[in-house]
Amino acid sequence: MEKLDFNVKTPIQGVFLDLAEVPDPVFSQKMVGDGYAIDPTSNKLLSPVKGKVIQVHKSRHAVTIETEVGEQILMHVGIDTVNLKGNGFKSFVKEGDSVDIGTPLLEFDLDYLALHAKSLITPILLLNTEGVSLNTTITPGSVISHSDTLFSFQIEKLLSHENQEDYEEIKSTPIIIDNHTGLHARPSAKIVALTKKYKSSVKLTKDGKTANAKSLVAIMGLEVAYQDKITVVAQGSDAKHAVEAISHLLKHEIKEAHDKEETTPKVVPTPKVKLKDPENIYSGVTASNGQGIGTIFQLNKKEITIQKVESNPATEKEIFFDAIKKAKQEIAKLEMQFANQNALNSSKAKIFHAHIEILEDPTIIEATLACLEEGTNAAYCWNKAFNQVANDLKALKNELLAGRANDIQDVGRRVLKFLIHDDDLDINFDMIPENTILIAENLTPSETAKLDKNKIKGFATTTGGSTSHVAILARSLGIPAIVGINDDVMQLATGTPAIIDADHGQIRINYTDKDKNQVQQNITDAAVKRKKDEEMAHMPATTSDGVKIEVAANIANLTDAKNAEENGCDGVGLLRSEFLFTERKQAPTISEQTEMYQSIADALHRTTGKPLVIRTLDVGGDKPLTYLPIDEEENPFLGERGIRVSLANPDIFRDQLKAILSVKQLDDIHIMFPMVSALDELLEAKEIVAEVQAEMGIEKVSIGIMIEVPSAALMAETLAPHVDFFSVGANDLTQYVTAIDRGHTKLAKKADGLNPGVLKLIEMTCQAATKNNIWVGVCGGIASDIPAVPILIGLGVTELSVSIPMIAQVKATVRSYSLDECKTLAHKALTLSSATEVRKLVQG
Ligand code: PEP
Ligand code: MG
Repeated sequence: MEKLDFNVKTPIQGVFLDLAEVPDPVFSQKMVGDGYAIDPTSNKLLSPVKGKVIQVHKSRHAVTIETEVGEQILMHVGIDTVNLKGNGFKSFVKEGDSVDIGTPLLEFDLDYLALHAKSLITPILLLNTEGVSLNTTITPGSVISHSDTLFSFQIEKLLSHENQEDYEEIKSTPIIIDNHTGLHARPSAKIVALTKKYKSSVKLTKDGKTANAKSLVAIMGLEVAYQDKITVVAQGSDAKHAVEAISHLLKHEIKEAHDKEETTPKVVPTPKVKLKDPENIYSGVTASNGQGIGTIFQLNKKEITIQKVESNPATEKEIFFDAIKKAKQEIAKLEMQFANQNALNSSKAKIFHAHIEILEDPTIIEATLACLEEGTNAAYCWNKAFNQVANDLKALKNELLAGRANDIQDVGRRVLKFLIHDDDLDINFDMIPENTILIAENLTPSETAKLDKNKIKGFATTTGGSTSHVAILARSLGIPAIVGINDDVMQLATGTPAIIDADHGQIRINYTDKDKNQVQQNITDAAVKRKKDEEMAHMPATTSDGVKIEVAANIANLTDAKNAEENGCDGVGLLRSEFLFTERKQAPTISEQTEMYQSIADALHRTTGKPLVIRTLDVGGDKPLTYLPIDEEENPFLGERGIRVSLANPDIFRDQLKAILSVKQLDDIHIMFPMVSALDELLEAKEIVAEVQAEMGIEKVSIGIMIEVPSAALMAETLAPHVDFFSVGANDLTQYVTAIDRGHTKLAKKADGLNPGVLKLIEMTCQAATKNNIWVGVCGGIASDIPAVPILIGLGVTELSVSIPMIAQVKATVRSYSLDECKTLAHKALTLSSATEVRKLVQG
C-alpha cells in the first residue's frame, strides 16, 4: 500500500498541548477528529497547509482547510467561542479561497477573548483520521512558532493493495460476540476503523458467509447477533497482527452499555384493540414523544431515473471522486453543526461521522469502480451500487441493521446530487408551510436534522423503526414523530387538518373541536410542565409534606458530571468507574485515576459540595478487561464479576482505593462495592480499605454496597451494621430475581423492576437500613422510571440516582406526592401480582 507523507505547520504561535488538555470533551475525546492543541500567545491564525478553505464558521472562530490530498484540517480558536457570535474575530478568507502555508486566515482580540471565552486553547484537528497516523516531534509544554511542523501524517492510498497471495492466510479461533445488539453499525465501524490500519486483506466469517472487514456494509450484511461465533481471517504481511488486534477488539472492546435511557423513547404501545374511529385514525409506532396540531404536508421526494450512458472510465472516475469529495464536505459540516451544539448532541454528530465512513466503504466504492471500468457513466454506476447495498440491508431480519439502509440511501442521494448536478434532490424545506404535520415514505437522517421545530409540529413515516437514526434525531430535536405508520396516510391530501399524537403513535383527522382543544391543552400543559420542571431542576426535591429526596445522577465520566451538574443533580449516586478501565491496554495508573475522580468531584463542587458515590471497578464476566485474565465462563453473569474481581486482583483494587482516597473533598466521597453477595466479601473488601486508609493516614471514609444480588437483599440485616449506605442496583437485581438476562433481545422487556418480587426485596433492604440508621438509594433504571418514583419512596428509599435527562422530571414527580401517598401506593404494590398491575396502580 502506497504511503504519502504530509506536514501540518503551526498555524498559531503559543504553547503546544496534547488534545487531552482541551477543556471540552468534544475535542479532548477526539469526537471531532485527531490532532493537537495550542494555547495561543499571538492573535493571528495562519494557514498550516496549502489547500482550499472549505468552511469558515459564521461566528468566525473556526476554519477548515482541505489539503491537496483531500484531508481536512479544522482550526477551532478557543472553547465555546461560538457563543461570542463573531465578536472579537476578524476573518480574512471565505469558503472556496485557495490558501498557501502562512496565508492569514483570521485574527482575534486576545484581551476580549481572555475575558469572554471559556478558554483560548485552540485545537488543530485532522477531521477524518481513518487510515491515517499522526506524529509529532514536539513535547507538550513547548513554545512553538509558525516555522515549526505541528504534526505530520501518512496517508495510505485508498484501495491500493500489496500482493496478498504471497502470504499465508492466518485465522483466529472462533470468537463469541458478546455485544447484546450484535455487530450493528457502531461496533462494525470500530472494526472497520481498526482493520483499515492493516495492509492485509481481512475477512470475517460466520456460518460459511464472508465479509470484507474493511467494509461497514459487508459486516452488517453478515447479521452477526449476540452469541454468534465469528472468525477473523487475514492475508498479507501484517496478517498476524491484524488477526490479534481485531480478535481482541471483538472479544473485549465492542461491548456496549445496556443503559439506553437517553436514546429510547417512552413507547406507548399502539392499541391492538379496534379503534373507536378507525377511518379517521392512522396508527404507527412512537419514535419521539409529544403531540401537535397542524395540516398534513405530503413530502413527495423527487424520483430519479438515471440513464446508462457509455463514457470514458478515466473521466468518469474523476467525476465520481469529485462528487464523493463534495458530499464529504457537506456531511462534515452537518457533523460539526451537531458537535458544536452541546455535549449531549455530540453523540448525534457520530451519526454523520458514520455517513463519511459509508462514503469510504469498499463494498460500494469497488462495485462503482468495477462498473466505471466497463465504460459506464458515474451516476448510473453509483446509483446502482448504493441501491444494491441498501436493498440487501433492507432485506435483513435484524431491524437495527435494516434501518441502516436509510443511511445508505441518504449518503447515496447526496453523492448523486453532485453527479447529476440536480440540487432539487435536496428537499427545499423553505417551501414547507408553518404548522406542518409532515408525511413521507421515509426521511433520511440529514433531512431530519434540517427540520425546523417551529414549523414542523410532527412527522410520520410509513417505514423505519424506533431505533433508527431518524428517530434518535427526532428525539434530540424534540419533534413528535411516528414511524411505520399505516400506508393509507399517504392518501391524505396536503392541507388536511390533523392531530399528531406521537405518545400513542396516532394521526387523527376529522377531529372535533373538543379533541382539538384537549390536545392544545395537553401541548400547553406539557410545555409549561417541562419549563417549570427545568426551572425547578436546581431546587431540592421534597415531597409535598416536606421529606427531602436526593435526586442524584448516574455518570460514567467527566462530561457526564458536567451535564449532570448543569441539569440540576443533587450529587452523583453512581459513578461507573469501570469506564476508566475499559478500552485500554493496561490499568490506569493511580495518578490517572485520581485526576479523573478529582476532576469529577471538582465539576460537582462548582456550587456547593455534593456527594459523589464512586463504585469500585465493576467488571468481569460480561465486562472483561484485556489486562485481567478471567477464564471464559459459561454463565458470565453468575461468574467472576464485581467485587469478586477486585478481591481476586488486590493490586488493582488497592490502586483504585488509593486514587479515590486522594480526592480532596473526601467528606463528600462515598466508596461503593458492586455485586456483594455475602458478608465475607464485604468484610474482606473493608479490610483492604482499612489497610489503605492506615497507609494514607485517613481516619474516616464512607463505605456502602450495591444491593443487586438477591442474597444481599435477603441478608440486608446482617450486612447493614457494616456499611454506611445501601444502593439498590435494580438492573441486576431484577435480572437475578426474574431469571431474565437484562440484555436478552426477546425477554428483556419482561424484566421490569416494578415486579412485586423485586419490590419485596427493596422493602427488606429499606427495613434493615432503617433499623441500622443508614440510608438507601436506588441507582438502577427504575429510579428514572416515573411510575416507580412514588413506590420507591414509599418503600423507604431516600436517594434516587437517575439518568441525566430525567433529573428535572424525577424531581417534579417527587414534589407531586406526599410521603403518605407514596407509602399507600407502595403497600398496595407489594400485594399485586405483576409489574403491569403495579404500573396500572400508579398511572390509574
Ligand atoms: C444495576 O445493576 O442496577 C446497576 C446500577 O449497575 P450496572 O447497571 O452498572 O450493572
Ligand atoms: Mg449492576
